[in-house]
Amino acid sequence: MGTLDDKKKDIKSMELKELEEDMAAIGEKTFRAKQIYEWMHEKLAEDFGQMTNIGKGLQEKCRERYSYTSFQVAQVQESALDGTKKFLFGLADGNMVESVWMKYKHGNSVCISSQVGCRMGCKFCASTLDGLERNLLPSEMLEQVYAITRLTGERVSHVVVMGTGEPLDNYGNVVKFLRLLTDGNGLHISQRNITVSTCGLAPKMRALAEEGLQITLALSLHGATDEKRQKLMPVAKQYSLAELMDACAYYFERTGRRLTFEYSLMAGVNDGAGDAARLAGLARGLNCHVNLIPINPVKETGFRPGTRKEAMQFQELLEKKGVHVTVRREMGRDIDGACGQLRHRHMKRGRS
Ligand code: SAH
Repeated sequence: MGTLDDKKKDIKSMELKELEEDMAAIGEKTFRAKQIYEWMHEKLAEDFGQMTNIGKGLQEKCRERYSYTSFQVAQVQESALDGTKKFLFGLADGNMVESVWMKYKHGNSVCISSQVGCRMGCKFCASTLDGLERNLLPSEMLEQVYAITRLTGERVSHVVVMGTGEPLDNYGNVVKFLRLLTDGNGLHISQRNITVSTCGLAPKMRALAEEGLQITLALSLHGATDEKRQKLMPVAKQYSLAELMDACAYYFERTGRRLTFEYSLMAGVNDGAGDAARLAGLARGLNCHVNLIPINPVKETGFRPGTRKEAMQFQELLEKKGVHVTVRREMGRDIDGACGQLRHRHMKRGRS
């Protein structure tokens, strides 16, 4: 899916080697590629004009040959509770993406979107309400991290691909993004500090295991039987829990990385003692960590969280069965917390 100027190459999505070949093709010395690459991915330049050591001539040549992804921020919301910031960015084609910045003791974490909208249709999620608009390019995922680094003036140490979109439904672009983000000539974010979350596209989880990346894979479970998952997540009709557990085991076997299971607690839906027992059964078979997330209510969907106490009880049931489990701290509750809500509201306002 093309997005920027289709006739021009998207330079910020190119790996250093590709850029070197491209420089050679236009009669430039290969070391120019490294200079430009560092301006883009290390110094986070906003346009070719800032690349002072490549000369006006090459700057102009670049403008003619390449498109340059750089975001304008459309809206920022800051949580009064915990300092979490939500950014809404405008893309070159008029679409919008949202990203979240969270400050933790261990460093600054950015949650990025991988698609404009989503086509997975999970019943509790705001990101999928308007369907999928298009995939994001590697440069558009990178730029969420880069723009936030420029805007906050602080280094980002952790990246989670848990914003709008299903990353494994945009597989090629996401893998390229991960390589660029962790590249030693760029921001060089540690692979171990990156988490990719999926609703469970089993074949793509297996493919990811083969990429030689040391990232964490998180599986959105939300139900511990096929029947329950199918009610909440249409994708569960395509891939069974048995297939998913096999894919998880394979991921661990190939990467040695412990998996994360995400489980959003929805009152009266998936938070009973029986649910906990079945979830424990799944989790115990694997090297994994369970993350319980009280569901973030989305007006359009009707699911609601139970009490804090109920969440703790659910956690205890899992712990008693020897499962590693935490209840996720909710960040930015006061600022359209749940994924996709900011963009969804913004678009609704635009339409009305
Ligand atoms: N598509 C990917 C990543 C994006 S969603 C995935 O499904 O994993 C990131 C996480 O937020 C997923 O676990 C998703 O199920 C969860 N989520 C979506 N809507 C939510 C809500 N309203 N409250 C709590 N978690 C939600």
